[in-house]
Amino acid sequence: MEALHAIGVDLGGTKILAGVVARDGSVVRRHERTTPQDSQEHVLSELEAAVAELLDVSVGALGFGAPSPIDQERGVVVRCVNLPLENAPLRDHMRERFGLPVGLDNDANAAAIGEWRAGAGRGVDDLVMLTLGTGVGGGVIASGRPFRGWNGAGVELGHVVIVHDGKPCQGSCTGRGHLEAYVSGSAATTAAREAFGPSADAHRLVRLANEGDPTAKALLHDLACHLGSGLGSFANEFGPQLLVLGGGFGVAAWDYLHGPAEEVMRRETLEPMRSTLRLTKAELGTAAGLIGAAFVGFEAVDAA
Ligand SMILES: [Zn+2]
Repeated sequence: MEALHAIGVDLGGTKILAGVVARDGSVVRRHERTTPQDSQEHVLSELEAAVAELLDVSVGALGFGAPSPIDQERGVVVRCVNLPLENAPLRDHMRERFGLPVGLDNDANAAAIGEWRAGAGRGVDDLVMLTLGTGVGGGVIASGRPFRGWNGAGVELGHVVIVHDGKPCQGSCTGRGHLEAYVSGSAATTAAREAFGPSADAHRLVRLANEGDPTAKALLHDLACHLGSGLGSFANEFGPQLLVLGGGFGVAAWDYLHGPAEEVMRRETLEPMRSTLRLTKAELGTAAGLIGAAFVGFEAVDAA
């Protein structure tokens, strides 16, 4: 059966963003709710509530993007770094609950698919997407296909080491010096609190920079340079035509990030990528993840 619409759900560290999406990537209706932090059961029930809020007869599939490696064979969310969700059989759970085909992917993979099919990456066969939010996610489109690895876990570009034995990483990650510890929205919030007091956060940091505050600008510049180190490495490893920066913080701070990040990125990048690579802002903004998740849903119904 040809599904007219799919519901895409982007599970983020602070918000669940959901939408009814058409096959051309346009969003027909949207819904947003807060991500619970207390238990797996509560996260699952809020995901169900987000779907129930949007469901109608035009919807033929569901797609979910979760901030975790995914076991594609079993349809399981393996373990979220920043959320209480571990070994969760999301695909079967939602298929039973709603009686529709369900697709599941890593959230940054979903964002990359969204930008590739309906946003800044249209017509590009090789791109890398980085999402800066509560954590840092990465998605890769290689030779016109989402790269998911052998079991569908995808790539965890936020957890590459950019500083040996550097700052401890976030959440359940035991690593040090990972990109996520330097350039996520949470890292920006930590830096903002150290400089401006306990009520400051990443969004206030960007606002202060907009007002011309030199400390805020310097903090964002430093963050952007670390971002450039990561981007330069990804350019060398994946050889993309395009790097797309998205996620709530990545989009909000774009004006401060892209200049210094691009300068460092080009310094670190080998030819031919150095002269041909483009860095661009996510065109779909924070909707990239839910739109991509809907495409993953369409993939599930078309394969059925
Ligand atoms: Zn890490």
